[in-house]
Amino acid sequence: MSGPIVVDSVAALRAQIRDWRREGFKVAMVPTMGALHDGHISLVRIALERAERCVVSIFVNPTQFAPTEDLDKYPRQLARDLDRLREAGAHLAFTPGVAEMYRPGFATRISVGGPSSGLETDFRPTFFDGVATVVAKLFLQAAPDCAVFGEKDYQQLCVVRQLCRDLDLPVEIIGAPTVRDSHGLAMSSRNAYLSETELAIARKLNVVLRQTAAELTSGADEASAVGEAAQALVRAGFRKVDYVAAREAVTLGPWRRDRDGRLLAAAWLGTTRLIDNVEILSA
Ligand code: AMP
Repeated sequence: MSGPIVVDSVAALRAQIRDWRREGFKVAMVPTMGALHDGHISLVRIALERAERCVVSIFVNPTQFAPTEDLDKYPRQLARDLDRLREAGAHLAFTPGVAEMYRPGFATRISVGGPSSGLETDFRPTFFDGVATVVAKLFLQAAPDCAVFGEKDYQQLCVVRQLCRDLDLPVEIIGAPTVRDSHGLAMSSRNAYLSETELAIARKLNVVLRQTAAELTSGADEASAVGEAAQALVRAGFRKVDYVAAREAVTLGPWRRDRDGRLLAAAWLGTTRLIDNVEILSA
């Protein structure tokens, strides 16, 4: 099977998508930062169920990294990514350079309210501005019918839904379940940073979250359950816990027992920051 068409300019992307539209094909998009793993590939599979053509963007977006974060060391492995996309049957890889996405003098920033407040934003204040701006650009460049985002980045998924609703972007957002390893660790490009010892600790994150979510469903007090979860993570070996928080699943407002909820966490292992989240079933 031949690999995906690779384009790195917006003009070439638009020309290809225009041709597909003429043929009557629906187009699904999967935005990524590359270093593709099985989680990303699961999104491609879902995209291929929804549309005849699947576009995957690979762009390590500098505007969503703070100056102190890992932009320079973020894993970049385009040849391997293209192999994985060929195996998965994706049709096009959009691999723009930074200069193609942010031309000299670029001065626009999209700031989504609502679900972006708190959680990640308390620790990465400009992160969702960077995400919303690049996702809006990708949607305007490719004009896909739908786009697939992972629940792994649950707050991001909620922010992207809000962005599309608020700006009338005609893109259906599809949330995809988190792909995990056999120990339940959510796959992430950043797992590549972990040593063997850290990996063993990282695998406790999902266990603590699932147990805490079950306790909340069975009536545990919210403040003490999330407090104990944070302590359990530190005992397990996490260096620092940014947050463990229960939220209402759609708005990410305060959690209510009579609604579906989400338990979200971010914690540090050495210099690597991991996030994960699980469903809290309503009582
Ligand atoms: P990233 O390359 O980290 O920006 O992620 C690109 C997309 O893949 C986002 O929609 C993520 O939520 C999604 N993703 C990352 N890890 C996973 C995973 N383990 N399972 C499902 N989706 C994932």
